[in-house]
Amino acid sequence: MENYDVIVIGGGVIGSSVAFHLARFGAKRVLLLERETVGSGTSSQSSGILRTHYSVKENVELARRSWDVFKDFAAYVGDDDASCGLVQCGYLICSGDDEKLEPLRASLRQQEAQGIPLKYLTKQEASQLLPIASFDDAALIGYEPEAGFGDAYMVATSFAKAARHGGVTVREGVTVQRLVIEGSRVVGVSTSVGDFACGTLVSTQNIWTPQMGTWVGRDMPVVPERHAVLALECTSAPYTSAMPVFKDLSSPGMLYYRSYGGKQMLVSEGLVGERLPSTDTEQGDVPLDYVAEVGAQVAARFPAYDAAGLASSWTGVYDVTPDWNPVLGRLPGVDGLVMGYGFSGHGFKLSPTVGRVLAQEALGMLTDVPLAPYSIERFATGALLVGKYGSGAVS
Ligand SMILES: Cc1cc2nc3c(=O)[nH]c(=O)nc-3n(C[C@H](O)[C@H](O)[C@H](O)COP(=O)(O)OP(=O)(O)OC[C@H]3O[C@@H](n4cnc5c(N)ncnc54)[C@H](O)[C@@H]3O)c2cc1C
Repeated sequence: MENYDVIVIGGGVIGSSVAFHLARFGAKRVLLLERETVGSGTSSQSSGILRTHYSVKENVELARRSWDVFKDFAAYVGDDDASCGLVQCGYLICSGDDEKLEPLRASLRQQEAQGIPLKYLTKQEASQLLPIASFDDAALIGYEPEAGFGDAYMVATSFAKAARHGGVTVREGVTVQRLVIEGSRVVGVSTSVGDFACGTLVSTQNIWTPQMGTWVGRDMPVVPERHAVLALECTSAPYTSAMPVFKDLSSPGMLYYRSYGGKQMLVSEGLVGERLPSTDTEQGDVPLDYVAEVGAQVAARFPAYDAAGLASSWTGVYDVTPDWNPVLGRLPGVDGLVMGYGFSGHGFKLSPTVGRVLAQEALGMLTDVPLAPYSIERFATGALLVGKYGSGAVS
């Protein structure tokens, strides 16, 4: 049986980041196992927005540290050809005079206290940045000039490539089917191509994490939720890549927007999505009634989009935990198992730091940030990481 110091299950943006960081920290025998191909899971469905705006301060810290990686990605992974597809167009977030106003104010203050560069904009200043939007009802507008969007698939594959260069064995098309356990300790995995032994196992299986729950006989609080994404085109008012990502807290769907393909508008809801009965990343239906409903909200904010056409639509699946925040760290009661799942629609922007701290945890190092707030035990103790905006990926 091949023997590894650390095995990582799942080659999404999180698992490939873990593998890269394991090599970076000097781990010699590391194996990354991916059922299909690297980045082919939910990472390939990501809208790619990179912001540090969060209402949960622990998330701000993970995002801030990750941002430092994204803005100099090729150098970080040590590969001149690597790219995270970064478009540094800024991030604008606004609330009307409603129940989102004070949560927004408090979150912006929290970010400032954590040293995030941000500005408060007047309606006129916001209109200069995003002239296709109307800010008539805006009561508070925050702006993160350094933020933007990137490409999660490119990040996953770049981390995996750099991991390979660092000595990690990356095996695609290999499905982990169960664990090999001795006493209370995980000592390996059984897969579609045979067994592999390991000292430590890292599970970054996203919506497939309940499999791990079955293998260890434990409930993993997470549900798969499908979300629709629309690309709209309005020739008279293109959403160019110079225009900022925009979060409209006051819209009924808490919509988020960004430029798509340099002229289209990518738009999606920031609310609870469609709960799926099984782990399935197949494309779901996007009914025209739904498009019309979201389209009406878009036109309320972007008047010219009353005449916009639907260029394309797709769906993606979030791994949603009860408080819409991830589980990071060792699984109590099972020795040698580190978990990283439950990113609830906002894991891409955290992936460099999450990969780094999970690698540190797997190697018994001090983690850059404390993992205790992200412990799975919080769902039993009630010490949840609840965001100020309620349920949703803005968290
Ligand atoms: C529509 C949509 C929009 C989003 N927008 C944003 C955004 O704007 N900004 C942001 O930060 N985040 C966003 N996200 C979230 C972000 O994309 C995810 O949190 C992140 O990509 C998750 O990465 P992952 O590695 O956990 O999961 P995945 O990419 O799903 O990777 C998990 C991998 O594990 C593999 N696997 C599972 N079980 C096994 C097994 N038994 N054996 C072998 N392999 C296995 C799977 O095949 C899969 O490839 C969005 C997500 C969606 C769906």
